Amino acid sequence: MKINAIQTCLIAVAVLALAACTGKTTNKGNALQSGDSLPADKGHILTREEQARLTPDQVLAEFKAGNQRYSSTDLTVRYHTRAIRETATGGQFPKAVVLSCLDSRVPVEDVFDQGLGDVFVGRVAGNFVNDDLLGSLEFACKVAGAKLVVVMGHQHCGAIKGAIDDVHLGHMTRMLENIKPAVKMSTDYKGEKSSKNEEYVRLVCKNNVKNTLKQIRSRSAILREMEQKGQIKIAGAFYILRNGTLEFL
Ligand SMILES: [Zn+2]
Repeated sequence: MKINAIQTCLIAVAVLALAACTGKTTNKGNALQSGDSLPADKGHILTREEQARLTPDQVLAEFKAGNQRYSSTDLTVRYHTRAIRETATGGQFPKAVVLSCLDSRVPVEDVFDQGLGDVFVGRVAGNFVNDDLLGSLEFACKVAGAKLVVVMGHQHCGAIKGAIDDVHLGHMTRMLENIKPAVKMSTDYKGEKSSKNEEYVRLVCKNNVKNTLKQIRSRSAILREMEQKGQIKIAGAFYILRNGTLEFL
């Protein structure tokens, strides 16, 4: 009996050690009890002091590392139920704001392996800016302290294809006008300028991200000044659906 008890104990210790090493827990291990403290990196909501200590370069490096975890299917296990309760008590101090397309295949928080309270997300088909989105980005950085702005386009974007094809349909007609400058920026492309040509669609998508970055810097004095003072970084990225990786532009 004693030997069995020791063996059971050793197996339990080995399982715990393995979980600690990999940063993963079993389903059973996820069941936190009332009053348990949250592991610091798996459900903790960033505080004002922690946000203030971060530099824009650190946040960008962390987001790149987070995308590596995401694309290698090593996403952090998070305890959202507990985190939800934490968010109700201490305000929000996110590290970054991401302007993404509407696309359902681009889960923004997961793409950067971030949790509740870590990132503001603005979404519009074609990830362009207008006054409302610029105001949202300014709020995220100037008022709420975010250190990084990421404009993220993606592969196989329907909005980009719609702009290339000059689609006229309801409110989409006006919306797609915001993407047309990127089509113009791509006129030097030598191959087939069609929404069926993936290489061309990719070029227009990247030019659209570059145009959005330009619009942010030229139209928002607040963000331009914050970037010049090194208080924030503004970056563009292209998301590849096939493997979940990002190409920073
Ligand atoms: Zn899209």
